[in-house]
Amino acid sequence: MALPVEEWRLYAARCWAALEPVLRERLAAASLHDTLRLGCGLLRPEATAVLRRLCRRAPAGKEPAAARFYREEGNRLFGRRHYGTAVRLYSQAASHEPPGSPEVSVCFANRSAALFHLRCFEVCLEDIARAESHGYPDRLLPKVLLRKAECLLCLGRLQDAADALSVVENKIAMDGIMTSPTHQTLLKKLSQLKIKIHEKESCPEPARETCGDIQRKSEIWEENDSISGASSSLSLNFDRERGRHLVASQDILPGQSLLKEEAFVSVLCPGESRLLQDSSETVWDTRVTNADLYCHRCLRQLLASVPCRGCSYAKYCSQSCADMAWEQYHRTECSLGALLLTLGVFCHVALRTVLLAGFAEVSRMVECSHDDDRDLHNPEARCKHLSEAPDTGAGTRSIPGCNDNGQYQSSYQAVFNLLHHAEKHSPEHKFLCMLSAVAVCKQLQEAGLEAAVLNQESSEKWSKPKTCEKTSGELSLELKTMAEAMLRHMLQLQCNAQAITVMQESGSGDSAVVNKKPVRLATALFPVLSLLNHSCCPNISVLFSGTAATVRASQPIPSGQEIFHCYGPHRCRMRVAERQQLLSQYFFECRCQACLDELESDVKSVVSMRNSFCCPSCRAPVQGEEMLSCSNEACAISVSRESLSHRLRDLQQQIKKALELLRDRKADQAIKMLLKCQMDAGNFLSPGHLLMGEMEDHLAQVYATLGKWQEAARHLERSIEIVEMHHGPSSVEMGHELFKLAQILFNGFAVSEALSTIQRAEEILSVHCGPQSTQIQELQEMKTCLSELPRSILQRT
Ligand SMILES: [Zn+2]
Ligand SMILES: [Zn+2]
Ligand SMILES: [Zn+2]
Ligand SMILES: [Zn+2]
Repeated sequence: MALPVEEWRLYAARCWAALEPVLRERLAAASLHDTLRLGCGLLRPEATAVLRRLCRRAPAGKEPAAARFYREEGNRLFGRRHYGTAVRLYSQAASHEPPGSPEVSVCFANRSAALFHLRCFEVCLEDIARAESHGYPDRLLPKVLLRKAECLLCLGRLQDAADALSVVENKIAMDGIMTSPTHQTLLKKLSQLKIKIHEKESCPEPARETCGDIQRKSEIWEENDSISGASSSLSLNFDRERGRHLVASQDILPGQSLLKEEAFVSVLCPGESRLLQDSSETVWDTRVTNADLYCHRCLRQLLASVPCRGCSYAKYCSQSCADMAWEQYHRTECSLGALLLTLGVFCHVALRTVLLAGFAEVSRMVECSHDDDRDLHNPEARCKHLSEAPDTGAGTRSIPGCNDNGQYQSSYQAVFNLLHHAEKHSPEHKFLCMLSAVAVCKQLQEAGLEAAVLNQESSEKWSKPKTCEKTSGELSLELKTMAEAMLRHMLQLQCNAQAITVMQESGSGDSAVVNKKPVRLATALFPVLSLLNHSCCPNISVLFSGTAATVRASQPIPSGQEIFHCYGPHRCRMRVAERQQLLSQYFFECRCQACLDELESDVKSVVSMRNSFCCPSCRAPVQGEEMLSCSNEACAISVSRESLSHRLRDLQQQIKKALELLRDRKADQAIKMLLKCQMDAGNFLSPGHLLMGEMEDHLAQVYATLGKWQEAARHLERSIEIVEMHHGPSSVEMGHELFKLAQILFNGFAVSEALSTIQRAEEILSVHCGPQSTQIQELQEMKTCLSELPRSILQRT
């Protein structure tokens, strides 16, 4: 999803192939500025028509039919008491209704009812207020106001509850006729509530014990003078071979925080299912995407989202987030929703980057880069540039991206100076990016948004886009500058994009054990984090919270050693050849210790042995490419890879079915099915195959839902062995698994085992997530609880 949709990529490739050879050559060698100057006339009307057609597959506008569909689905699931799903469907319905309409207020009111059942009282009150402010129909109001009183009562706000109640009473009295059945139920409810309030008032609950102040270990944090967000134990270096990189300037301990950085820009990844397959018919579906689950701006998890006033795509955690996003970039992006979904996340990040920076700053940096381009053709001037290092200080002044004081900050200047490798990208790719950037700028011009883009400050004046006066189609000089910067950012993203990932809860949600899996949430630029070079065996761990990243040392780092991030290919999970293949997109050959070791030794990587098939007859390892032959000479069976792959796919289907059984609370059947899958898998998968671990994990989950803690623990332990093989004994993945095991042992009162597992989980997770993370706190609470257990229970175990 990073790149544009396939059809647009193919169209651009055809366009490129049809160009005059001379023009192709000139474009291939051109600077970014010249690429745009030569290329912006190449977005022909035909291309615009292709894009318009593709945009129909990614609807982002408000559709009354969709609103109806989602509201009815929501009502249906509400009736079946699936309140969580109902909340989500009402949110989707609300995103399709015009703001301020009675229809949208009904969505909020319905959602408040579902939230009430979920006991989310604060959020429920917010939705009731929203319903009222959007003009909720008067005749329906008493019911909602009663819910408000009930919420306040549940929150212990008795006076507010009583006030709300008298408002309802007056309202009902004013409305007159009291004979309809709904009025009768309302009156009954009213008197019940009155009694409840009275009871609570006469018998106040004891003041809740203030939580014993758990002494939280505060972390030592001293910020670096010259690198924003970095710890003072790092320094910024620069050399020809490694480029800019960060080095430990003193000995660093595992778990120590090294960097705390807010993303300069981030864009939520829409997820695979966002695009419709067939453009001819609109089918609304109830699948959830990232856009339904996370705030469009701050990436916080959504419960009751606030929809954008203009589109159905952007949803926010709060009105203030919605307002801020509107102010900073969304008033420009809003009407471009479908186009941005079609052109991919990189293009969207590029646009948002220039919008956040503002035209003045963008144009200043673009001008500067033209001077540098001229210097490039004049080597003397360039050398002079680089050797201008001052005698004082560390000499960071000459490092690209640093300001005049030699400081490296998370700024547009730093973003602009990230390497774009224009000369290493294929000319076709550059052409595709150029065409996409121009398409966005053209659309901005046609939608009358140019003035808004160029004058970020005077927002009020431009809140209503003027229709475009000139229709010549030629981009203005200013928009060409914007397009040039966008092209640069799109190329930079290939090497500098940072995925923001979170652990998302999966499964039924009502189980005692929380199951989490990592998901990619957004694509972002972190100029300071980008200073870190790659290693397949990194010495840090990155944790995201919203749009902020925290980097911690995952092992001791002696002074003078470089700090390494892993861009994806990790030594534990891939062979050196696969890693090198993947890293080629970053335009370098990895020379990290892990790669050097593996390239020099003839020993076959253990990784290849783990995720492989085994002989269906004797279970010995098999070798070969298309035909696999058993390594056991006495057996000598051979079997085609295709037939085993086919078996693997069948197996995955069966596992999926088992999980559906679990979701439908048919635990016994799910266990039966999983055990059968396990038997089957043992006949053709190596014992260390990830899928073997996953099945053990699912079994543990089913037993946990049945409260059979011992069985659950036994299966989870086997899954953990496999996780350890794949991710290493001190990896964050191990930490999460041990956390799960600790929960299971805790629930099963297996005290001594629970305590030792808590200890192990704590050691690992405090390194990766820090001592203040919620998981560490939960582990400590479990520990306290276990140590306070009465002796009688302890002796039983
Ligand atoms: Zn937010
Ligand atoms: Zn919008
Ligand atoms: Zn490597
Ligand atoms: Zn065999």
